[in-house]
Amino acid sequence: MKNPSAQSVLIAGHPLPKCFADTLLVIRRGKGVRLQDRAGRWYLDFTGGIAVNALGYGRADLARTAYRQMRRLTHISNLYTTEPLLELGAKMLATGGFAAVQFLSSGSEANETALKYARLYALRRKGVGCHRLLCFTGAFHGRTLGALSVTPSAKYQDPFGPLLPGVEVAPYNDCSALERVLDRSFAGVIAEVVQGEGGLACMSPEFARALNRLCRAHDVILIADEVQTGLGRTGALFASSELGLEPDIVTLAKPLAGGLPLAAALIPAKVNDLIHVGEHGTTFGGGPVTTAVASRVWDLISSPGFLAEVRDKGEYLRGRLERLAGAHPALGEVRGRGMLLGVEVKLEALTAAPAPADPAVPADPMADLLTACREEGLLILRSGVNVLRIAPPLVIAKKEIEEGIALLARALGRFKSDGGSK
Ligand code: PMP
Repeated sequence: MKNPSAQSVLIAGHPLPKCFADTLLVIRRGKGVRLQDRAGRWYLDFTGGIAVNALGYGRADLARTAYRQMRRLTHISNLYTTEPLLELGAKMLATGGFAAVQFLSSGSEANETALKYARLYALRRKGVGCHRLLCFTGAFHGRTLGALSVTPSAKYQDPFGPLLPGVEVAPYNDCSALERVLDRSFAGVIAEVVQGEGGLACMSPEFARALNRLCRAHDVILIADEVQTGLGRTGALFASSELGLEPDIVTLAKPLAGGLPLAAALIPAKVNDLIHVGEHGTTFGGGPVTTAVASRVWDLISSPGFLAEVRDKGEYLRGRLERLAGAHPALGEVRGRGMLLGVEVKLEALTAAPAPADPAVPADPMADLLTACREEGLLILRSGVNVLRIAPPLVIAKKEIEEGIALLARALGRFKSDGGSK
């Protein structure tokens, strides 16, 4: 697509608080796997709206579904229910193993729900005192106070303490540490199969087996946070079942409603049987518009052909990334599963980047690399401190993957140790 000459598309002075970047790129529209800024320049999108836009941009089918449903009924409260919710709920429960699905509006809220139900179950089954929660190093489960309490990152937690008491952090993928720490006094354990925000570390099959065994032994609710990995991102409907993890509760969000805010917590009978009317709820979760769109998204993503293609393209992307990493001294290990991949960046090899304009602002070679990618026409993510994360729309074609890798290579080419970025 044509790239008209660059205008000022980076907005400083936006109305958002200072937790957002000083300058933000103003995006006007999307089509397929491409996004256009307000000056008309197109970018290839390796971000997928941070793993949300699985089916790509500008989908007439999803827009039609949302429009029709808005004309019919937009909101009704959870004093009643609607046909789109019933239809989506039936499809989700048909995957087996769960007795109920609670609809919510964000990943954090889905995890809050899971943590609350773990507490409720422990209180009613095991009695007072079994309320502890276990999470793992590198985890990200959200920014509301409960979800933040199980997100052990100083940057996110420190400004907001004190957080929930009774939370323990164990090293991710360390089976013997898990064996030592977990006991009956815990209500729940929450874990990701791929740590999407924490550098793309993947859960080992041994750790999955240890979690299954120990949670069962101590009657602890095992929560799989599939907010980022769920619904096809790794090439399976649920990354947890692909790995052999047997969670009691699964949380889903990002791609569920094609970019509209909808999240879900899948709940087993043993928990559902202990919940009473009115004990938990939310205003917007599971409205008719989001569930109508999600029903279409679910059909498209859960078809076996779609998931096989994601696996195939994920392998292709991994191969291309590994080849690039082999050829570039600043790139290291390739991590992740399916189309949620990361490549480690050796920051010391990127120090040829220009010095920051304001010396009070510390140099950030990763930010410089993301900027170089954007200037080349590629939008890409970071994960943790020094990992480039790639989570494109799942509908991306192999030739678009090839194009994105070439753009990334060009951006990296600016960082040769020949005196700096051009
Ligand atoms: N869990 C995981 C694994 C996530 O990746 C995220 C979002 N990055 C969340 C929870 C929080 O989701 P939300 O931002 O919708 O609250």
